[in-house]
Amino acid sequence: MTGLFPGEQFESADAARPALDVRVVGVAVQANVWGDFDYAWPAPLGEPFVGQRVRVQFGRGGRTILGFIVEVDRVHSDTHKLKPVSQVVDQELQFSDDLWELAQWISQYYMTPLGVTLAGCVPSAVGQSVKRAETVVFLGEASADLAGHWPKSLGVRQRKALDELLEARKQGVEPLTMEALTHHSGIGRDSIKRLILRDMVRTESRPVTLESLQGKLANEDPFPLNSDQQTVLDSLLPKLARGFSTTLLHGVTGSGKTEVYVRAIREVIAQGKQAILLAPEIALATQTLQRLATRLPRVAVLHSGLTNAQRAFHWEQIRSGQASVVIGPRSAIFAPTPNLGLVIVDEEHESSYKQDTAPRYHGRDVAVMRAKLAKVPVVLGSATPSMESYHNAQTGRYDLLTLPSRVRGLAMPTLKIVPLRKEMTRGRIELVGQTLTNKIAETLDKNEQAILLLNRRGYASYVFCPSCQWIHQCDDCERPLVWHQAIQLMVCHHCNTTRSLPEVCPACSGKIVLFGYGIQRIEDELARKFSLARVARMDSDTMTSPKQFQKVLGDFAAGDVDILLGTQMVAKGLDFPKVSLVGVVSADTSLGLKDFRASERTFQLIVQVAGRAGRGDTPGSVVVQTLFGDEPSIQFAQSHDYRGFALHELAERKEAAYPPYGRMVRFIVRHEKIETAAEGAETLGRFLQAHLPAHGVRTLGPQQAEFARIRRQFRFDILLMTDRPGLIQQKIGPILRQASRETPADILVDVDPMNLL
Ligand code: ADP
Ligand code: ZN
Ligand code: ZN
Repeated sequence: MTGLFPGEQFESADAARPALDVRVVGVAVQANVWGDFDYAWPAPLGEPFVGQRVRVQFGRGGRTILGFIVEVDRVHSDTHKLKPVSQVVDQELQFSDDLWELAQWISQYYMTPLGVTLAGCVPSAVGQSVKRAETVVFLGEASADLAGHWPKSLGVRQRKALDELLEARKQGVEPLTMEALTHHSGIGRDSIKRLILRDMVRTESRPVTLESLQGKLANEDPFPLNSDQQTVLDSLLPKLARGFSTTLLHGVTGSGKTEVYVRAIREVIAQGKQAILLAPEIALATQTLQRLATRLPRVAVLHSGLTNAQRAFHWEQIRSGQASVVIGPRSAIFAPTPNLGLVIVDEEHESSYKQDTAPRYHGRDVAVMRAKLAKVPVVLGSATPSMESYHNAQTGRYDLLTLPSRVRGLAMPTLKIVPLRKEMTRGRIELVGQTLTNKIAETLDKNEQAILLLNRRGYASYVFCPSCQWIHQCDDCERPLVWHQAIQLMVCHHCNTTRSLPEVCPACSGKIVLFGYGIQRIEDELARKFSLARVARMDSDTMTSPKQFQKVLGDFAAGDVDILLGTQMVAKGLDFPKVSLVGVVSADTSLGLKDFRASERTFQLIVQVAGRAGRGDTPGSVVVQTLFGDEPSIQFAQSHDYRGFALHELAERKEAAYPPYGRMVRFIVRHEKIETAAEGAETLGRFLQAHLPAHGVRTLGPQQAEFARIRRQFRFDILLMTDRPGLIQQKIGPILRQASRETPADILVDVDPMNLL
């Protein structure tokens, strides 16, 4: 924050000097500064309005940055000293009233400057010109009577394109978009032109609408709700008329939560309103959500795979009220629905709902606040609700609804806990023990499918010299480099730097060994043990775009893959009937971490991935390998006892005054120089001590962060725990402002942190 000055402290250039009776607007800029700044409004820019995006010069260098008008026609005595607004971005308001209020709340609650918060709500692509027309292709007159007997003179791809069109006609979904046709048949646009000349096809241009993007809607429901689902729906529907309420829907894996969402959303649409459904980014690529889009009309889907133009198009459809449903990851909570009727947060326990850059908001909590401001109900769904939400249900702040059993009377899978120590064969590095190996063999023999989970990327977690104990670390992050066999490089999982493997230890020239294990090692092991099995690996190294994700899941669904091996990605929402075995290679990947949520995460991961087994007609079985079989998280997971686990875990949290019994705020002070970072943290610590009440607040630190240096920045942290969050919230703002004036180090604030490393 140091080094930045408000706009009014500039000597404005003569050329830009506003006239005497200038209008003044207050602007919240997208920079790490508190408060807003006065600017002159040049008349040629039209009529200003609150919420309008503009560009203004800001800071010493006179950089032009984004800002939002927060007040129009301010009184200002020295208007000739003001800089003018440079440019307008919006001609029309991109916010609804509840969204505007929501942003103010986020800014306060998460202690993020308003301009930064607002910029985080509206995608920068919004307002750019959107594609309004597209070309669609029909079968032509000359093709009509041929019934698929295409002339021999046509090329293979031309015939394929005609086949596609004929099929579309039979299914009643003609025409196809040019984009879809060229994509599926591989035909080039020139070849299509030649088909047009022969009257084999014809094209039309038509406006793009959500309906034209969506394809055919399924009008029949695939099955009636079972009685548990009906009971839940009967409790939900009356809430639609009663304003704000929060409902936690705890439904075991495979209990048919999605179907309940569909029916509730349909009712919302029937009332002429819109619904927002949040889902974790990964789940958006799965077939469950794709299926959902065929059951509901005019669905706008926001996800990271969209181009800027697509994003702008969907946003516009939502804002104009054309879209009736919005499905997307956490940022979709900012969808500018004019007439919101319901908000649903699926997999509400997912830590990916927390954003890790400013504003560091939690999508679930923002969803509850948005629903409150819009006076509509919000439903939080999960098979493993977060301790926060379950606690809220227990204390009566949230209503609790449950789906206690799987649909179609399917059984929960049986879990077998296997102590890893016993399974290890001495002298051999094998991570898939005997029990799991036998189970995989049986599954393959029966022509069924398996999912294996190991939540650790790479091949070996350390590159290590046994003779001098040296571990190869990233120069910028001081964390061990991870060996990636597939690309034959060491990778830093914090900054993605890669290095080649040294031949000998750089410190003592001793022999280097690869130590510890990752998912690529399992891949090797499976290839050795089951050379005929088709294995697909799904982790963030192989899944670099939503398309790849869809491809692997498509292959798995089609039966072209026998074993799906993955990190926590495979634990999320997959619904494949032929999966009868789930193997957890190690349940212990988060247990060693210094994080009070380690136990909760372990429980969630096991229950969620186990939930992928036995969704079809074969009962599911799950093998969990662990070194810590007595851990409560693993024991409760074995018996599918969510409530037992939650009560046990909540008791421990209460004892330690951890969330949800106390609130946490984490400060990270970072700088390239370790002394500066340390001093900055000391300064902040002193201010906190001096200005916060002694009673009801506990401070931990300053201390070196668990990850002490990331991307060249040394990191110190201070953890604040309190049972008086309201009071703290008010005091921290001024403290932060003061502290940042005294140190060149960067101070980050993370309210309700999900990550303590
Ligand atoms: P969850 O999200 O609770 O794990 P899903 O919503 O994915 O469960 O549903 C699991 C499967 O059960 C899906 O394939 C879905 O189509 C199917 N299903 C849902 N409701 C019913 C029902 N009433 N009868 C039969 N099958 C159902
Ligand atoms: Zn050495
Ligand atoms: Zn690094």
